[in-house]
Amino acid sequence: MATLEAPVRPARASLHSGPFVTEPFFDFRNEENARRMRSAIAKVRGQLGREYDLIIGGKRVKTTDKIKSLNPSKPSEIVGIHQKAGKEHVEPAMQAALKAFESWSRTSIEERAALLFRVGDAMRQRKMEYMAWLVFEVSKNWAEADADISETIDFCEFYAREALRFAKAQTPIQLPGEHDTLHYIPLGVGAVIPPWNFPCAIMAGMTLASIVSGNTVILKPSSDSPTIAAKFVELLEECGMPEGVVNFCPGAGASFGDAVVGHPKTRYIAFTGSREVGLQINKTAATQAPGQIWVKRTILEMGGKDAIIVDADADIDSAVEGVAQAAFGFQGQKCSACSRAIVDERVYDKFLQQLKARVEQIKVGDPAENANMGAVINEGSMKTILGYIEQGKKDGRLITGGERATNAGEGYFIQPTVIADIQPRSKLEQEEIFGPVLAVIKARGFDHALEIANDTEFGLTGAVYTSSRDKIDRAIREFHVGNLYINRKCTGAMVGAHPFGGFNMSGTDSKSGGPDYLYLFTQAKAVGEKIA
Ligand code: NAD
Repeated sequence: MATLEAPVRPARASLHSGPFVTEPFFDFRNEENARRMRSAIAKVRGQLGREYDLIIGGKRVKTTDKIKSLNPSKPSEIVGIHQKAGKEHVEPAMQAALKAFESWSRTSIEERAALLFRVGDAMRQRKMEYMAWLVFEVSKNWAEADADISETIDFCEFYAREALRFAKAQTPIQLPGEHDTLHYIPLGVGAVIPPWNFPCAIMAGMTLASIVSGNTVILKPSSDSPTIAAKFVELLEECGMPEGVVNFCPGAGASFGDAVVGHPKTRYIAFTGSREVGLQINKTAATQAPGQIWVKRTILEMGGKDAIIVDADADIDSAVEGVAQAAFGFQGQKCSACSRAIVDERVYDKFLQQLKARVEQIKVGDPAENANMGAVINEGSMKTILGYIEQGKKDGRLITGGERATNAGEGYFIQPTVIADIQPRSKLEQEEIFGPVLAVIKARGFDHALEIANDTEFGLTGAVYTSSRDKIDRAIREFHVGNLYINRKCTGAMVGAHPFGGFNMSGTDSKSGGPDYLYLFTQAKAVGEKIA
């Protein structure tokens, strides 16, 4: 049976030098790899329920309030117990980060890059162990966990190399009689606020880009995934990160997170999450606090309502496979997930029939056993998703799924759900659901399909399946998304090849994993020196 697994990537040629190559994925059809993964899962299972502290200026801090991170596939299982930073921890965290900034900002770029290389190397050594944490903490199956940790390693390698490249930046011209130079210097203390859905890669990516650029960080992970973040910060320390460079503070977004964003000494906010929270952060950051002497920079990557267009002349088999993988990989909980299939009326029935058969092969169950689909992140999310499904049953035609997958266990399992005949501009067609729910929409032709695809407030990813060069060129010009894919699924962006970030309400188009990303974490100082 076809799985929702990612393709195998090429093997790495060399480390830290030569052309950048992305981290290869494991092939779990290989029995030895599967055996090693099972043993990593068993090892991590033995470490569940441990307590983790806040880390402020290198010191361990306890709080009375705690955050319990639960296994979504088995909510009675505690993955980690975390301290909960409150408003009173903002000032100590800020002071620690400011103090560390004095020396870290002056540490050579080579040394800062070397830290990232060491972190990437160490993670490579223990890759399956980190993957296993994701299996327990957010219910990723093995391939999805592999993609997350591989991307984290890629960020270590890529941003370290990028920092070294930025250090060699030059002004486009030299004025006669002058020595003109350009220096990308750090900004200051950044608030790094990630989501839970790529709990390692996005959390680590924003943190690594920050620190390799010479900034120091207050890291507030999502309350649904603080354990993998704690593991990552432990690794930074083990690899020689000085105290106070990253201050680890799990806490509630609305109290601790909001207070860090509003602090006058916060220089920038690197956020990935929902549209609502992103806009709130943007608003808070735009208000000058007493004592604040800069315009805060916001790097905001937000939601999506991503569409795959299936044209009449598309290869239907490959379109069905791409849509199924993009809609239901990691339970549809990717910002890039396909939540709308916009299908030409001439192939609509055929596509639906094949899609139904394909989706019904998806096995929902415990990701520790490597089921195709695990549980959704928490109870609240499950209820929201089931609410959308009920709405969809009224607005459209249920093709498959439509309920909680109770046979999979006590966790928050939902059947992969396809609802056809959804009308443009209806709730299911416009709102981000962030779960395993696909709306299928009938289009009168390619023009109509493009019009529907562009008609939401988002603009993150999209894909087009067609055999027509002319339509491909039109999509490149007219399909308004930050990441467009042709004849492949709309998930699975690779560092370096697919710099990632969306348009419109999907965010500030920061393009993580791309050549412009570190500009956002630095400021350029131009120096014109008269030659005596
Ligand atoms: P969320 O917006 O609920 O939370 C994101 C983070 O913001 C969490 O750490 C949360 O604690 C914090 N937060 C909440 N309120 C806050 C406040 N007032 N001030 C400061 N911080 C606050 O998002 P989520 O549920 O964790 O993640 C899912 C969302 O993330 C989806 O919308 C998804 O599309 C989006 N996402 C986008 C991208 C992208 O690259 N565009 C990538 C992954 C996820």
